[in-house]
Amino acid sequence: MEKYSHDIIIVGAGLAGLRAAVAAAEVDSKLDIAVLSKQHPLRSHSVCAQGGTAAVMREKDSYDLHAYDTVKGADFLADQDVAEFFVRQVPKEIVLTEHWGCPWSRNADGRIDQRPFGGHTFPRACFAADMTGFLEMHAIYGKVTSYKNIRFYDEWFATSLIVEDKTAVGLTAIEMKTGEMQAFRAKSIIMATGGHERIYEFTTFSHSTTGDGMAMAYRAGAPLEDMEFVQFHPTGLVPPGVLITEGARGEGGYLLNANGERFMKKYAPEKMELAPRDVISRAEQTEMLEGRGLQGPYGSYIALDLRHLGEEKINERLPLIRDVAIKLGGVDPVKEPIPIRPAAHYSMGGIKANVKTETSIAGLYAAGECSCISVHGANRLGCNSTADCLVFGTVAGEEATKHASSSSLHEVPQQMLAAEENRIHEIISRNGNERVPAIRDEMRQIMDEKVWIYRNGLQLETALKEIRQLKSRFRNVKIEDKGKPFNTGLLETLQLDFMLDLAEVTIACALPRTESRGAHSRTDYPKRDDQNWLKHTLAYCTRDGPRLEYMPVTITKWPPVARTY
Ligand SMILES: Cc1cc2nc3c(=O)[nH]c(=O)nc-3n(C[C@H](O)[C@H](O)[C@H](O)COP(=O)(O)OP(=O)(O)OC[C@H]3O[C@@H](n4cnc5c(N)ncnc54)[C@H](O)[C@@H]3O)c2cc1C
Repeated sequence: MEKYSHDIIIVGAGLAGLRAAVAAAEVDSKLDIAVLSKQHPLRSHSVCAQGGTAAVMREKDSYDLHAYDTVKGADFLADQDVAEFFVRQVPKEIVLTEHWGCPWSRNADGRIDQRPFGGHTFPRACFAADMTGFLEMHAIYGKVTSYKNIRFYDEWFATSLIVEDKTAVGLTAIEMKTGEMQAFRAKSIIMATGGHERIYEFTTFSHSTTGDGMAMAYRAGAPLEDMEFVQFHPTGLVPPGVLITEGARGEGGYLLNANGERFMKKYAPEKMELAPRDVISRAEQTEMLEGRGLQGPYGSYIALDLRHLGEEKINERLPLIRDVAIKLGGVDPVKEPIPIRPAAHYSMGGIKANVKTETSIAGLYAAGECSCISVHGANRLGCNSTADCLVFGTVAGEEATKHASSSSLHEVPQQMLAAEENRIHEIISRNGNERVPAIRDEMRQIMDEKVWIYRNGLQLETALKEIRQLKSRFRNVKIEDKGKPFNTGLLETLQLDFMLDLAEVTIACALPRTESRGAHSRTDYPKRDDQNWLKHTLAYCTRDGPRLEYMPVTITKWPPVARTY
């Protein structure tokens, strides 16, 4: 095997990346597959998924019901052909992961148990206690390591995609241990690098979730789709933002304001605490803005009350939540309500890809949270993301294999590697007076204050201006560590560079969308406007910032109706 040349390179070793690796290896045992990740695979954010994976597993449920729940949850911005394909694929993924060792929780008759989840009209969340992602990842990682033709590059940081004649031919990456940069060649490349929630301060996501793959694809010419839609999860633990799974409400937890009222009765009388996330996050934010939040040392918050579930059920169904609440929130949910408020939680937008995970760059595929295949539209339902990673990870692995078997490796021009090395060298050599942590904090403050649950034109305009100022200040950052091995200062700088691009795109897409749909709530345009805005946003990278185009939504069976719960 020629060094750094592979048939397929998968960037990212979360649920989508690992699932893609298995799918590719299953199709062709002779294929030379590489999985490149900036952290050990089992530290990918996917291990944090708690609540479950949504799948149709019972006769009383149906594909149409799951697809419709998804489309309605998406506020009708999902592509319905994709949603219909998606729901049909998930059940077999549940069975496969079970065969690979995922210990799904069981009900009394021995079948895989399912719990209710927000916006789903049937209890269809398959779960492994409240550690679903952790156990799925371990099962799939075990499977991946059984193939001899999959090679891991752990702790390699991809910095750029190499594209020639609109075809992805390779990428550049830094080996963190040595600090050396290498050019990789591949016939197919799969981006599976996860979301970009770290552009926000109060988020449920790991520090590594900085949107690198989205930014690399964007810079290489692939459009990003629907980036204005960022999901806010109703129950981020106060103060750290760590997630308290929706499963806590699926098991029967209540949300209470300062008056002890289950306020969801005003906002979603039927679904109450199990309305979709955008609806509940807005309700919580409204309660706090109107002075009915509880007050604590970290500001206003809402109470998530599990006490009535009893200690036995909490220990059996929500053991991690109890542990997290005690250790990070200082409260035992058996005895006291958990302090929570909405936290940035998911990126509905991402690299534009079709149902085959193909992007607009030949040979480049995208799967998992970094992609926008458009299952989730303007708001994702809980438990549909791990399902999306499994389904479209599989598709990406299979499609990348087909492409690799009918194409050949391209030479990566030496000057491209040299140019990227020079770019990084220039960043390390800067001796300006700006510091990465300061710019990063300011970016997050801008996003938390002005690009949060409720938005308006004035705030978005200001935020865009401020992010652009940060981008220009970024050119003056100084990295103290000028060395090569494990230069985390450099990696933090490169991540900030990616995030600044993505913050700019998020705002630039949100500003012209003069309506409220799903997770995008404009106080100056509070109504959904299907006449003008039933369309996807596409953002292309230009020297002057994002250039926007729009694309129709695919409707198959379900014309948009008013969304009530
Ligand atoms: C706390 C929490 C709980 C959740 N619970 C649920 C749930 O119950 N059900 C559900 O459906 N969804 C849940 N989600 C959402 C879901 O877990 C994620 O959307 C999904 O796991 C993302 O998987 P991924 O494979 O796309 O990316 P990730 O798991 O984020 O992995 C990204 C990978 O890309 C690599 N990478 C990134 N940048 C680079 C780079 N520059 N170079 C090399 N490698 C790179 C990383 O090392 C990592 O391996 C939850 C999310 C969170 C944060």
